[in-house]
This record gives sequence, structure tokens and C-alpha cells, in this order.
Amino acid sequence: MPWDQLTDEQREVRDLVRTLARERIAPRAAEIDASHEFPWDVVELFREHGIFGLSFDERYGGTGTGALLALLVIEEVSKVCATSGVILAVQELGSFGLKLAGTDEQKSRYLPLLASGEWLAAYALTEAGSGSDSAAMRTTARRDADDYVLDGSKRFITNASVATLYTVFAKTDPEAGHAGISAFVVEKDAPGFEVARLEPKMGITGSTTGELTFTECRVPSANLLGEEGDGFKIAMRILDRSRPGIAAQGLGIAQGATDYALDYAKTRETMGKPIGEHQLVAAKLADMETRCEAARGLLYRFGQMVDTGAPEAELTKASAMAKLFCSDTAMAVTTEAVQILGGYGYIKEYPVERMMRDAKITQIYEGTNEIQRLVIAREMLKEARAFLLAGVA
Ligand SMILES: Cc1cc2nc3c(=O)[nH]c(=O)nc-3n(C[C@H](O)[C@H](O)[C@H](O)COP(=O)(O)OP(=O)(O)OC[C@H]3O[C@@H](n4cnc5c(N)ncnc54)[C@H](O)[C@@H]3O)c2cc1C
Repeated sequence: MPWDQLTDEQREVRDLVRTLARERIAPRAAEIDASHEFPWDVVELFREHGIFGLSFDERYGGTGTGALLALLVIEEVSKVCATSGVILAVQELGSFGLKLAGTDEQKSRYLPLLASGEWLAAYALTEAGSGSDSAAMRTTARRDADDYVLDGSKRFITNASVATLYTVFAKTDPEAGHAGISAFVVEKDAPGFEVARLEPKMGITGSTTGELTFTECRVPSANLLGEEGDGFKIAMRILDRSRPGIAAQGLGIAQGATDYALDYAKTRETMGKPIGEHQLVAAKLADMETRCEAARGLLYRFGQMVDTGAPEAELTKASAMAKLFCSDTAMAVTTEAVQILGGYGYIKEYPVERMMRDAKITQIYEGTNEIQRLVIAREMLKEARAFLLAGVA
């Protein structure tokens, strides 16, 4: 299996990040959660150690070390702090538009700033009235001389207010449905761009989630990604590549909760023995570990597919399956971890209640798990498979 065959370099980087996560991020996790403050110190740590660069090509200041390693790193960080894990996942989400559809000029201008972490990125697709049905968006962009003029708003945007670069989707032809959507990169200083508010929320509380408004916001036409009308396809291609980052966040949360519950079950005693030796608790631990390992299989397979050059069309289903299973695992496993800790699981002195709150979002953002199931089934229906009923009259 791929994770038993990691290269020396992959192991070395994963182990370095594991140590950083345990020594530098874990001690901050409860405080980040309680303060609801964006952890700039963690961003600085990532910058110092070149961690943002792990998902960028060498040509643009990254390490060129591939997709699997970038996922391993999000997993390691999310084991101790899901807010810190999503910083890495969203740097990818907000950069993929440039990587997949940017011109050489656009890439050379922006990717080095994102690879170093000097700039943070965001991805703005969702609106108040359009989440799963993203083609129903209302934000418009009209061409005016050398600019596009954007009007409308976006809701629930991760990294709102901390990002310098936003990949934004808007309708250049409102009558044309999916085919009327275009993609732009928008710098935070663009005239008419504003972060209208930040949302308080259940989990990943240190991550900012905000509303963006565009009021006659002028963006140079040089910031259009691809051609006019390519936006919806670009948005979906980005999500195919970025959803596994959320899968890695979910798996990290799940493994972190499993490891914590295991330690607890070894030391907490009832009826004269450690609770881990009671069969009902032991069975929970076994199920939690098995789910994590199965999730890891789907996730690492996706990373390996990208790194070995699998055709893009094959990534859609693999990406959706990894996101679906890892995030459902995160929710199921963290709920059991709280149960294993009993009353202590429910109070804030212990990290598993935070992990359970953080896990929930992984089933919702970058496409809800209902949408992932639709995507997987749609891909299955497209496949030409031999089936057992062939030849049956
Ligand atoms: C903390 C947070 C961070 C986020 N970050 C970002 C971000 O950075 N960028 C961004 O663009 N968006 C972001 N989002 C938005 C997120 O991706 C959407 O909330 C999500 O896609 C769901 O859209 P919705 O909220 O409009 O729900 P709806 O689409 O209204 O769905 C409501 C419910 O109906 C179900 N449903 C909808 N349609 C179907 C269907 N056809 N079949 C079956 N079930 C269906 C959904 O699964 C869900 O359970 C973020 C959201 C949150 C909460």
C-alpha cells in the first residue's frame, strides 16, 4: 500500500511536520479555539519551514514534491489543530485556479507569493442563495474597457479578511447558466471589494469565514482565468483537486481523536481495570482505528493517482470518495472519542469536544457529502462496466 512505500523524502518531511505540529501547534490549539482568533503565529511557522511551498512547483518557488506529501502534511497538522490544517488546505484551494487555468504571466506573478505564504489565498464560489447549486449565483462581471466590473456578494468564504488573493466566480453572461460563469483573481485592494462581516461558528473557530461584497469592483481584464465562460468548469476542476485537502483534514481530526481516546482508555479505570479492557470500549477503539485506516487508503490513493499522472477525468470520483469517507469518518470517530471519555469528553478541558465540533464542517464545505454521493453515483453511471447480469435473459 502506498503509505508503506513512502519515499525517504516523504517520510522525512512528514516526520518533521509531525514534530512541529506536536511541539508548536498542539499547545496552541485550545487557545486558538477559545479565542476565535486567526493564528498568524502558525502561518509564520509554516512560512519559516517552507510548508506552504509543499504544494507548489519548483518553478514557482515550491518544492515540487507532489500531491501525496501535501496531503500527509495537512493530515499531520489537523491531528492536533483543525484550524491550522484548513490554512494549508485553503492555500491550495485558492491557488488551484491559477495552477490549472492561469497564463504563464499570471502564474509567475502570483504563485511565488502563495508558495512562500507571503500571501494567503481564498476561493469564493458560494453565495447566500447558492451553495450546492453554485450555477445559480448572482454575482455579475461586465467588461468595461480594460477592466471587468464585479457586482454582488459571496458568503461563507474561508480566509476572508486574511487572504490577499481571492479566486472569484461571477456571471459574465447571466442568461447562459453554467456557460455564463467566469473566474477571476481579485486582490484584496481592488476598488469596490470589501469583507462585509465575519461569521462566528461551531468549529474551526480560528479560521475566518466571511461575506465578501463587490460594488462596482474593478478588476483588470488580465486577471480573468481562462476564457470568458470557462468559470464553472474551472470551479469544478479546482474542487476535484482540492477536496482531498478537506479529506486530509477530516482524517487528521479522526486520527487525533482516536489516539487521544486510546491513551485515555489505557489509564482511566472502572470496575478494577482500564476502560480499554472492557469489551464495549475496546470494540469502539477497534472500529475507530479501522475507519481511519480505510479512509487513509482512499486519501493516499488519490495523492498517488495525481503523482503518477492519472487522467483528470479519473480524479473526480476518487476525490469525492476520499472526501466523503474521510469526513464521515471524522464525524463518527470524534463522536465515539467523546463517548469514551465519558463526562470528561464533554468538557473543554479535554480536546475531543473541540475535535467533534471541528469534524462537522468537513461533511459540509467544498461540497456537502450529499453532493459527493451524487458525484460518485454520476461517475459510476458513466462507467462502462461488465456486469453480472450480462447474458441473463
Ligand atoms: C465554515 C465554512 C467555510 C466555507 N468555506 C467556503 C469557501 O472558502 N468558499 C466557498 O465558496 N464556500 C465555502 N463554504 C460554503 C460551503 O461550501 C457551502 O455551505 C456548502 O457547499 C453547502 O451549500 P449551502 O450552505 O448553500 O447549502 P444548500 O446547498 O442549501 O444545501 C442544504 C442541504 O441540502 C442538501 N442538498 C442540496 N442540494 C441537494 C441535492 N441536489 N441532492 C441532495 N441533497 C441536496 C445539502 O447537502 C445540505 O444538506 C463554507 C461554508 C462554511 C460553513
